[in-house]
This record gives sequence, C-alpha cells and structure tokens, in this order.
Amino acid sequence: MRSNIRLGRFFGIEVGLHYSWFLIAFLITMSLAAQFRETNASWGAVVIWAVSIVTAVLFFAALLAHEMSHALVARAHGLTTRAITLFALGGVAQIEKEPADAKTEFWVGIVGPLSSAAIGLVCLLIAWAAGWRGAPAPDTPIAAMFLWLGYINFMLAAFNMIPGFPLDGGRILRSIIWWRTGSGERSTKLAARIGQTVALLFIAFGIFRFFGGAGFGGLWIAFIGWFLLQAAGASYATVTLTTGLKDVRVGDVMNRDCTPVDGNLNVETFVEDYLLRTGRRCFVIEQNGEIAGLVTPHEIKGLERQRWPYTTLYDVMRPLDQLHTVTPATPVMEALETMGRDDVNQLPVVANNHLEGIVTRANVLQFLQTRAELGR
Ligand SMILES: [Zn+2]
Repeated sequence: MRSNIRLGRFFGIEVGLHYSWFLIAFLITMSLAAQFRETNASWGAVVIWAVSIVTAVLFFAALLAHEMSHALVARAHGLTTRAITLFALGGVAQIEKEPADAKTEFWVGIVGPLSSAAIGLVCLLIAWAAGWRGAPAPDTPIAAMFLWLGYINFMLAAFNMIPGFPLDGGRILRSIIWWRTGSGERSTKLAARIGQTVALLFIAFGIFRFFGGAGFGGLWIAFIGWFLLQAAGASYATVTLTTGLKDVRVGDVMNRDCTPVDGNLNVETFVEDYLLRTGRRCFVIEQNGEIAGLVTPHEIKGLERQRWPYTTLYDVMRPLDQLHTVTPATPVMEALETMGRDDVNQLPVVANNHLEGIVTRANVLQFLQTRAELGR
C-alpha cells in the first residue's frame, strides 16, 4: 500500500494517506451526521456537521496513534519503519524487517491494541467529564463526540486482536507459537492458516448477513474478509521469502558475466546489436577500463525513439555513483530491500572497488524456483 498524499514526518516517520481513506472519512462523517440529526436535532445543522467532521478527524488521529505505537516499539527494538499509510480499512506501518525474535514480535504487535484501548478509555473519561452519565445519546456535543470515539477505539482494539495474520492478533499469536515451539517458520504457517480461516468466516458471515437482509453492512463484512484473505496470503509469502533467503548471500545468486559495452555507442546501435541480439537485460558501461554505469531496458524506454541515433549510452546510463552497491557478502534479503527502496530491479555488486557482477530480482526468483523444484 503506497501513500497518495504525504502528510509529513512525525517522530521521523513518513505519514501518508491512501485515496481510499477519503471514502471512509466521508462515510463516517455522513453516518455521524445522520445519527446526530436523529438523536440531537436541537443542536442545529451547523453544530451537527461540525461535530461530525471533527470526530472523523479525531478518529484519524487515533488510528495514526495506533500505527505510531507499532512503529515506536519497533524502533526501540532496532527496526526501522519506512512509512505509515492510512487507508479505508485502517492503517499500515511498513516496518522494514521481520522481527528477529518472538519477544520483539509480541511487543510490536500488542502495543497497537493496547494503545487503542487506552485511547478509548481516555475518550470515555473525557465524555464522562463532559457530563455523560451512561445514556446512549448524550446532550452535549463534546460528550457525544468522545463517547463515539471511546467506543470506536475499543472496537478497533478488539478487531485488531482477532488472531488472524496479518492483524495484530495474528502477530501476537504467531509470536506465542514461535516462543513455545522455537520455530519461526512453523508459527508463520499456522498463524497464516488461522488468518485465512478467520477471513473465510468473515466472508461467509457477511454473505449470510447480506442475504438475510443486512444489505451494505453484510457486504462490508464480506469485503473486510476478502481483504484479510489477500493480506494473510501476502504476509505469508513475505515471511516465507524471508525464511527461504535467510542464509543466502548476493554472491550465491548474482550474475557474474555482465557484458561490457562502450559508452560512446549510440542507443540505436546498442539496441540492435546488443539488447535485441543477446537477450540480456543489463549492461555495464566502461570508461577507460573502469565501470562508469549501467544501462537496462528501463533507461532506453524513457528516451524518444527518434532520438536514439543521436544519444550515446553515456547520456542515458545510470552512473555507478548514483546507485547503491552491494558486496558478494551482503544478505540477499538486504539487497531486495535496497532495490525496493530505490525502486530498481538490479544492483551492481562491488568488492574492493571492482565490479564483480550484477544482482537482479530475476536472479533471486530463479534461485528460489530451483530450490522449490528440488524440494528444498
Ligand atoms: Zn495494529
């Protein structure tokens, strides 16, 4: 999930919104306004709309606090969070690595629901201070607002405690199985299976409710189930990848035979004589016997066709000093993370100032495929 709108950095962590967030903010505001019109019509339209909008904004802040708590506990355990994104179904904190041990996983997971529950409690206390005495529809706007926020934050805590990977509850469950069995891999499999089961139950229940006349609410539950099913599969794949590549180094998978080409060649000749003829996708550009940069189909694609004969490879290459390099000893997972961060498909492998080869995403895939075919 990538942010569409950047909101800035909080505690050094990039925070952003996905477009789908606006849908949910709109739905929350509309349904709150409808609710207040029914229970507190005396407030008048202006107050009702103002309270509804402020409540939706505060709900957003509470979600952000939930995700931020994951990120801060992860940081305390040495894990960096790349970004926090809020979207229609909540938020995601993109923590760069999987926790190295069960204890870290447990604390990073549980702090989210704990934060939401704590925020819920504080909101109910504010509602109480503002005059709420247990009635379902308080008279004052402040009490009504914080009562709703209190409930929704407790619901958020409860929903996240559902033991289905990748919800917080799934992570907590995984950490407990991990701790009891000592096997990160087995715990992932089990937590993912439970996650998929929970997701299927959501879908079945949602469809059942839909045909039972619950309408949109039923579809919504089924949709959440569908989302959980996707997410459980994706997290499972990530963790399997991490486990499968745990001890693999760049030197084990990299391409050693990179074709050197002369940087003075024009792009037209290069495409005809090298790119199309050899089927390779990555070429190194040499300058005075030294590696100056890389050219891949990606660089060529960005150039207009009619300019090919007049542009040299020097003009389009990615200079080596602009690329992150790795060494043959770099763990493959780390190389993949760097590629993800830089949004590239390959990295030059350098040892002692000498280019040893190129590591590409395709190399890693081939390696995993071969392993899978051999059943290892
Ligand atoms: Zn969470």
